[in-house]
Amino acid sequence: MRVEHLARRYEELSAVDDVSIDIAQGEIFALLGASGCGKSTLLRMLAGFERPDRGRVLLAGCDITALAPYERPINMMFQSYALFPHLSVYDNIAFGPRRSGMDRRAVDQRVREMLELVELQAYARRRPHQLSGGQQQRVALARSLARRPQLLLLDEPLGALDRKLRERTQIELVSILRRVGVTCVVVTHDQEEAMTMADRIAVMREGRFVQVGEPLEIYENPKSRFVADFIGNVNLFAGELVTDEPERCEIRTPEALFHVGHGIPGTLGMRVSVALRPENMRLQAGHAPGAPNQLHARVAARAYLGSYTQYELELAGGRRIRVAQANADRHVEAFDGGAPVTVRWSETAAMVIQD
Ligand code: ADP
Ligand code: MG
Repeated sequence: MRVEHLARRYEELSAVDDVSIDIAQGEIFALLGASGCGKSTLLRMLAGFERPDRGRVLLAGCDITALAPYERPINMMFQSYALFPHLSVYDNIAFGPRRSGMDRRAVDQRVREMLELVELQAYARRRPHQLSGGQQQRVALARSLARRPQLLLLDEPLGALDRKLRERTQIELVSILRRVGVTCVVVTHDQEEAMTMADRIAVMREGRFVQVGEPLEIYENPKSRFVADFIGNVNLFAGELVTDEPERCEIRTPEALFHVGHGIPGTLGMRVSVALRPENMRLQAGHAPGAPNQLHARVAARAYLGSYTQYELELAGGRRIRVAQANADRHVEAFDGGAPVTVRWSETAAMVIQD
């Protein structure tokens, strides 16, 4: 699928602002961003529920921008599932195929295939209210896939499920989508959901794509402070490039001197930001002598979260940073409130951001 310069305004507000993207056949593509950044508006334009002011949508090379929703080989699944409460699971799934004029036997075959796909063969006669949330979600998915769309659009598909079920369902959903091989655009405001499900993620802000990439790329190589901050937790430091060599550079900030194990395309003296993930720093008791890639702090707060312990640390100037210590062993040293600590990180831990 290809989107070219798609835009939609609501009076003064640019809900979607010049978005272009190519999405491969069979790819699972996530739109990730805070509430109000334009995810649903973009999705509704792909579905045909919303008219773009500018731009085009192409599917398998055909311009579908002017087509009505029902003329597009696209299906959209909503958060509320929108199942028909008075119809059985079977009839919910059969609804689309029947309307498209398939004969009885073909419809029956298709519904059975879909029931098998979502492992609900035993539930065909039930009504939606007789199913759990996770099962309803699977019926909705089966119904969305029953007409074999070329493109499936999911708007916050798992928003109604509790956390545990949500995590399991994300994996199930991906495995079903892969088996069918359908191209999928999924909207979510949940970063872990996007990372679990998607081949690529577009991070959206104010109607624009601010970065598009594979989950690892977005997490390990954010192109802006906004993306670094939005994806996971991060400590940001603003400073100046003081050494610039091909294989390494140094950045001085008020808090620390950063030795970074790679060069950056920049000029000496330029302003840059450095981002450090909480899990990429290590704690040590006491205040070691000053050195690069470390800083002194005191423990302000500690939360034991099972697989890791999270520390809020206060730096000399009063600023707070967050450090996570993996509980890889059952007896990892814990630091108490007020304790002086040294925070260290390696030359590969710091992400240098130039915006
Ligand atoms: P998201 O799905 O990312 O939360 P939306 O696409 O729903 O964001 O909305 C993007 C922006 O467009 C928001 O500021 C929202 O208030 C506005 N918006 C969405 N739909 C309409 C509409 N029909 N009329 C006016 N403003 C709208
Ligand atoms: Mg939305």
